[in-house]
Amino acid sequence: MDNFIQLIYFLTALLFILGLRRMSSPATARSGVLWAGGAMVLATLATLLTPGMGNFALILVALVIGAVVAWIAAKRVQMTDMPQMVAIYNGMGGGAAAAIAAVELLGGEFSALGIKALAVLGALIGAVSFTGSGIAFAKLQGLMPGRPVQFPAQRVVNLVVLGLAILLGILLLPTQAGGLILVFFLAALAFGVLMTLPIGGGDMPVVISLYNAFTGLAVGFEGFAIGNPALIVAGTVVGAAGTLLTLLMARAMNRSLWSVLVGGFGVEQGGGEVTGSLKPIDLEDAAVMLGYASKVIFVPGYGMAVAQAQHKLRELADVLEGKGVEVKYAIHPVAGRMPGHMNVLLAEAGVPYEQLYDLEEINPEFPQADVAVVIGANDVVNPAARRPGSPLYGMPILDVDKAQNAIVIKRGQGKGFAGVENELFFAERTRMLYGDAQGVLGGLVQALKRL
Ligand code: NDP
Repeated sequence: MDNFIQLIYFLTALLFILGLRRMSSPATARSGVLWAGGAMVLATLATLLTPGMGNFALILVALVIGAVVAWIAAKRVQMTDMPQMVAIYNGMGGGAAAAIAAVELLGGEFSALGIKALAVLGALIGAVSFTGSGIAFAKLQGLMPGRPVQFPAQRVVNLVVLGLAILLGILLLPTQAGGLILVFFLAALAFGVLMTLPIGGGDMPVVISLYNAFTGLAVGFEGFAIGNPALIVAGTVVGAAGTLLTLLMARAMNRSLWSVLVGGFGVEQGGGEVTGSLKPIDLEDAAVMLGYASKVIFVPGYGMAVAQAQHKLRELADVLEGKGVEVKYAIHPVAGRMPGHMNVLLAEAGVPYEQLYDLEEINPEFPQADVAVVIGANDVVNPAARRPGSPLYGMPILDVDKAQNAIVIKRGQGKGFAGVENELFFAERTRMLYGDAQGVLGGLVQALKRL
């Protein structure tokens, strides 16, 4: 039986890796998710077959509750709420790793002190990921203010609590004292909360991804502690993927991981007076501008996702191309609310991949564009990012302000995710086309057909 279980775990690990591999392309991503999900079912079955396993009724009840809640939540979740969904599930993973560690630390036998040290480390990281992800979820879900929460001597307090958790973890190594274990977990859980409070604004996705990596590490360490190869492989894969994604996202915002973790993002540090006025344009005039252009660059953002306007955008692009206009899409790496958000939506609307251009590729082309059309994007086109002192400072932006003309489609005077006023909207060559993105794009299509 043991060999059979090990064989299933080996198969599971293989499927996890192959599933992740398939997730790297939009064309195979869905099957990648199914492969990894199938692997999870196999791993669960193998665990249930483990000799000495009991409490089947309790396990079944937990499985059913978990599956039903997850199924309903995943069916209902809006694309725009995906980051907080990832945060909460990821937190559950960290919590589960910490719970395994708690059981082992309370009653388990460890083959070596080093293995117990891994269990303690996994417990610390898992507990931090659990409460940290919970706070990230609450912030993104609007259950608490999304901006950074700061208080005097915050960094000192955070360091003291982290130091205490590490110290208690070391003291735990030679003992199984329940009281000590409890205080250790309380300190670790508290540090997760404290670490996440000062982080806000556009840094949230980076932190969620970091906690994802933490959860992977914690799961991997607990895999060592209880001798479970599936946990070791799955944890390592998640840990590595999460780390890479975290670094990629931080780089896309041109922020060091350290500056993200120190927090305070989204708090304006003075300066940045916006001059000029907002100049509205109506549908007919905007259609004329577009219809007589020779090159148009579309810049989609979070507002396009909210309005589900990707299909209308594609329709507009088709009409323009029919009139001989060259059309390109500029994709900012953190446009929307999750990595690849725009790519997924535009692919769903059937926009050819060749028309999607990354920031570095498209920026040199803005000066030659007759019109750049911003569809519900804000932070990713905010020139304030070039100004020291701005909360956005350092984030590379799409150079819409360098286009011959810009048309910005948004509903009103709403600010972007980082809460910073956008100078582009007040610029001489910018016109504001107010309304819900889907309605406005539909209106533009009609107006262009009448030209
Ligand atoms: P922003 O969130 O900065 O701005 C979106 C704009 O869309 C708003 O100004 C809003 O203005 C407008 N809008 C909202 N609803 C509609 C609608 N129905 N129709 C038309 N317009 C609408 O978006 P960006 O994509 O420019 O920037 C993304 C931000 O999110 C960055 O700060 C990034 O760091 C952060 N982030 C990114 C993640 C990622 O991984 N991609 C994850 C989490 C955060 P108005 O209210 O006036 O309509």
